[in-house]
Amino acid sequence: MTPFSFARATDADDALRLASARGGRYLGGGTNLVDLMRETIERPTALIDVTGLSSTIGERDDGGLLIGAAVRNTAVAEHAAVRARYPALARAILSGASGQIRNMATVGGNILQRTRCAYFYDNAGSRCNKRNPGEGCDAIEGFNRMHAILGASPSCVATHPSDMCVALAAFDATAHLLGADGERRLPLTELHHLPNGRPDDETLLKPGELITAVELPAERWFARSTYRKVRDRASYAFALISVAAALKIDGDRISDVRLALGGVAHKPWRAHKAEAALRGAPATAEHFRDAARAELAGAVPLSHNGFKIELAERTIVAVLQELAGEIA
Ligand SMILES: Cc1cc2nc3c(=O)[nH]c(=O)nc-3n(C[C@H](O)[C@H](O)[C@H](O)COP(=O)(O)OP(=O)(O)OC[C@H]3O[C@@H](n4cnc5c(N)ncnc54)[C@H](O)[C@@H]3O)c2cc1C
Ligand code: SF4
Repeated sequence: MTPFSFARATDADDALRLASARGGRYLGGGTNLVDLMRETIERPTALIDVTGLSSTIGERDDGGLLIGAAVRNTAVAEHAAVRARYPALARAILSGASGQIRNMATVGGNILQRTRCAYFYDNAGSRCNKRNPGEGCDAIEGFNRMHAILGASPSCVATHPSDMCVALAAFDATAHLLGADGERRLPLTELHHLPNGRPDDETLLKPGELITAVELPAERWFARSTYRKVRDRASYAFALISVAAALKIDGDRISDVRLALGGVAHKPWRAHKAEAALRGAPATAEHFRDAARAELAGAVPLSHNGFKIELAERTIVAVLQELAGEIA
């Protein structure tokens, strides 16, 4: 591990000041960053602990929720308003990692956790454009069962690992950011981007920018939402495919829907094509299947992950059926 200094920020402005003075990185629960530092994949020379900042969940005047970036994952999943009004978010968080890790992990850190591509972690022997830009990607011709089927590029086929972010993307969450130029807000669906030619550049955050909170809009129908994660083991495994969905039905028609996928792309994947196909359509399995196929029409399988296309289709249909009440 490369030597580093450590400081605990007293408030958000202090965190910004410490980060710019020392060229440092923010530290949440450390459950991802410290692992990467041990492997010398990340080599910050200064860590700024931001777990003492914005650690509350508050009601907004418009009926939405504002979740501080330092709130632990467990606290979000257990919060009564989250469970009642955004159940897909609680379920997504509880499907991730382990109880101990969720107790440590923060909202900000979860959003910015890095991919679990095994070649990215193999600092000693594998080529990885995300770790060393320009050296190549061993996953493309390698063991790529967990990798992307949507939005990948010849430079990187990694997936974003967060379960929580899939639910946040479905709910149109907005990240509150603070940087040298002041405050700004960014939809979560725009915060991460696709690999294109620079998979090491993962987000639209500016250098030193701090996530201070995540805002959830006040949509009462989000209470009819869920999250399903398909994985190799019942716990402690990343998603092969996951689906976050919310459904609003008037009569026998879908009046509104939110759908996002995990385990398929370099970022939480908002399924806009499927949503467009579903709005106004009857809430039947046939229409759910057509919508899933519309979203997955652009999927490009790798040598080991072609099964993900059908798995994603089936999972989307099953989740929408569950929400529509067709399955007990
Ligand atoms: C064994 C294991 C299994 C796991 N399984 C799953 C799983 O199934 N599903 C899943 O979703 N996740 C899983 N995880 C990942 C886990 O969710 C993340 O490690 C965790 O959410 C990261 O949060 P943290 O607060 O510890 O982040 P840290 O490790 O502290 O930080 C991560 C990144 O975020 C940055 N950062 C932190 N806070 C801020 C902020 N406020 N503003 C700007 N930057 C910030 C840091 O600089 C760093 O770059 C697993 C992890 C492990 C170790
Ligand atoms: S898929 Fe991305 S993270 Fe994995 S080896 Fe290739 S470039 Fe690296």
